[in-house]
Amino acid sequence: MASSRIPNFYKKTVEERRELIKSRLDAFDELDKAFDEAPLPVETADKMVENAIGTYPLPLGVGLNFLINGKDYIIPMAIEEPSVIASASYIAKIVRNAGGFQTVSSGRTMIGQIQVVGCEDFDAAKAAVLKQKEVLIGAANAAYPSIVARGGGAEDLDVRVLNEDTSASKYSTMLIIHLYIDTRDAMGANMINTMVESIAPLVEEITKGKVYLRILSNFADRCLAKATCKIPPELLESEGFSGEEVRDGVIHAFEFADSDPYRAVTHNKGIMNGIDPVVIATGNDWRAVEAGAHAYAARSGSYRSMTGWSVDAKGNLVGELELPMSVGTVGGSIRVHPTSKMALRLLGVDSAEELAQIIVTVGLAQNLGALKALATDGIQKGHMALHSRSVAIAAGATGEMIDMVAQKLVEEKEIRIGKAKELVAMYTR
Ligand code: NDP
Repeated sequence: MASSRIPNFYKKTVEERRELIKSRLDAFDELDKAFDEAPLPVETADKMVENAIGTYPLPLGVGLNFLINGKDYIIPMAIEEPSVIASASYIAKIVRNAGGFQTVSSGRTMIGQIQVVGCEDFDAAKAAVLKQKEVLIGAANAAYPSIVARGGGAEDLDVRVLNEDTSASKYSTMLIIHLYIDTRDAMGANMINTMVESIAPLVEEITKGKVYLRILSNFADRCLAKATCKIPPELLESEGFSGEEVRDGVIHAFEFADSDPYRAVTHNKGIMNGIDPVVIATGNDWRAVEAGAHAYAARSGSYRSMTGWSVDAKGNLVGELELPMSVGTVGGSIRVHPTSKMALRLLGVDSAEELAQIIVTVGLAQNLGALKALATDGIQKGHMALHSRSVAIAAGATGEMIDMVAQKLVEEKEIRIGKAKELVAMYTR
């Protein structure tokens, strides 16, 4: 991959941008094909979901300037909201000048849950499951041998008893088995569900109880990806604000989010602004990622900031974001949807682990973009200027008139549909 730094990319036409991207990648004729032919043929859509009547396109842009572990990435982002891609690329440029992002991950272990109720003696049932651990793991792997052949599969198991003290809980006592499964480059929901369903009869035999639920947990806290960055204050300087002022504003903003769920929800929504578009563009299950991320943000018992920001001994701003990231580069609809296939080629990722690390990086960049704007000029200045084009279109502007109306709205500091309609009427008169 050549450099992901492409100056003035935003000023080019869509066609020029595609040519620039293609010129940076080997044998990338699929790009035109993926965009110019139906991005998702309706016949394919009809096989993907029930009651299909069409498809729902989203804008697809690219996050630029990302340098992660010394490697350049052009990051596909599918999103309808203006200013997100610009903000991520802007922060990636700053971090690039500070040496880039660093990432790690905890591996690819996902969790399958089995719920057992009605055991006569739950402690004895728990002990019996633990005694038969290797047998259960072997049976789970026998139900999905191909993942074992790929170097993954069920690796471990543990057991908890929930609501043991029935006088303290109004719910029934239950035994919960966690089967830990390395899903390699797949998100793994289907393979996990196959495994836990297959061992349910054996679990009933061992526990003498009744199995109800057998399904993966989206709280994938053994499938974590973490991104970090370190930025000297001089790189944060912006019009009217010193680098130290920006840095300290970011710290105050983080402390607010980490102390107050009302702020944390909006703060974390901004992080998901970076994460979801990459998850969607690569054909992954964004509901699973969303659910896991918010649960992880509440793991201390209260809902807090997903990111952490601090200042090191040298005065640098240090940021980190760690989240469960149950995404895949194979499986599900990833290789069915032509655009997600193209997006993965564009990224040039080798594994699900690498994809997960890229995704949290974009989340971290997005968070800094929002906090930097909030701590200085406020969010509206940049956001509304970019939003003005959507306002112009909603008011009926077409072709060249879109930019004319948008520019006027920004100049007159009145970015609203009513004003845009007046301008459209004036220009069409
Ligand atoms: P698949 O069922 O498509 O399984 C992935 C398949 O990819 C494997 O069976 C494997 O088949 C093949 N494969 C090829 N190369 C690799 C590799 N390197 N590593 C791993 N597998 C490889 O998808 P998932 O099990 O990942 O399930 C994801 C889907 O499940 C998503 O669409 C998701 O929306 C959905 N889902 C989500 C739920 C949730 O989140 N709660 C619940 C239920 C479904 P082989 O080895 O035979 O080649």
